[in-house]
Amino acid sequence: MIPIAKPLIGKEEVKGVVSALKSGSIAQGPKVREFEEAFARYIGVKHALAVNSGTAALHVALLAHGVSPGDEVIMPSFTFIATANSVLYCNAKPVFADIRDDSFNIDIEDVKRKLTPKTKAIIPVHLYGQPADMKELMALAAERGIAVVEDACQAHGSSYGGKKAGAFGTGCFSFYPTKNMATGEGGMITTDDDRVAELSGMIRSHGSRKRYYHEMLGFNYRMTDINAAIGIAQLDKLEGFNKKRVANAAYLSKRLRRIKGVVPPVVLEGRTHVFHQYTVKITGDFGKGRDEVVSKLSDKGVGTGIYYPLPIHQQELYKKLGYNVSLPVTERVCGEVISLPVHPAVKKGDLKVIVDAFKEIKNA
Ligand SMILES: *Cc1c(COP(=O)(O)O)cnc(C)c1O
Repeated sequence: MIPIAKPLIGKEEVKGVVSALKSGSIAQGPKVREFEEAFARYIGVKHALAVNSGTAALHVALLAHGVSPGDEVIMPSFTFIATANSVLYCNAKPVFADIRDDSFNIDIEDVKRKLTPKTKAIIPVHLYGQPADMKELMALAAERGIAVVEDACQAHGSSYGGKKAGAFGTGCFSFYPTKNMATGEGGMITTDDDRVAELSGMIRSHGSRKRYYHEMLGFNYRMTDINAAIGIAQLDKLEGFNKKRVANAAYLSKRLRRIKGVVPPVVLEGRTHVFHQYTVKITGDFGKGRDEVVSKLSDKGVGTGIYYPLPIHQQELYKKLGYNVSLPVTERVCGEVISLPVHPAVKKGDLKVIVDAFKEIKNA
């Protein structure tokens, strides 16, 4: 089976971990600092703060921007549950906007419709590795005095107009094993704002600046030096990993676009897409339903993923919270998408297997 994701851990990561273990500093220490500095430099921001998950990064970033009970935060529903749950953790209200049919990212026109005097922040998600409409969203947010917390958990290294995802507003990254770079569990907050950085540093560590003196409610969201050592090695390899993803995606798109009913991903003007996921849409023209395609691909040894089969506003948890909105593009797209393997361990031969499988399924 060609897996949908595979972390690539090499001797550099092993060496880093062993050196962290032998150093005696195994919680947050010098390796975390080193990882943060390297990550901030890479994204092109003043500050980066490591935490122990992407979810923690989102929670901390929202708190640092003052998101509190009663506030509304606009975001897509077509994303991983963590994006919305981080808002619930602040006792604030996620407000779902629909997405664009081409990029799967938040639709700015629908964001405008969902704005109210209670809107405190917007969380664009750079879904599958392609930046959302950040120039337009930053302008809108500035005009309204609203914070922008970017969910860049799938977009390490992607850019829009030469600026990296995570450098527009306050960026949140995840280093879960399936992401473009991994630390095991892990996350990062990126920002140019000194105040957001200072607050984030406190919130991740029990609201303290000085050990055992607590100014505010915080958490233990710290990253360990063991994880940071893996992150340092992975960050060095990220550009190479992303290049492979992009090349694999180009190979697939060139061939799959000739098959009627398969819509390859659209990369919008001025953006680089890092293909955390390579996601096609299966439309009626294909002649077979999405779920049938998934099961036939599996029979032929092709692993796939559905991100996401059920939008957040239709999840049991959110229905219980009283959500009853209609998001037509989101709801349709959930039934059309299939993600195919393009991670750096996917070989040319694997890509050929994927393309042939599509042709055989179509013609069967
Ligand atoms: C992975 C992911 C997260 C959460 O990251 P964790 O490290 O798993 O907590 C949040 N949002 C999106 C879009 C993600 O893909």
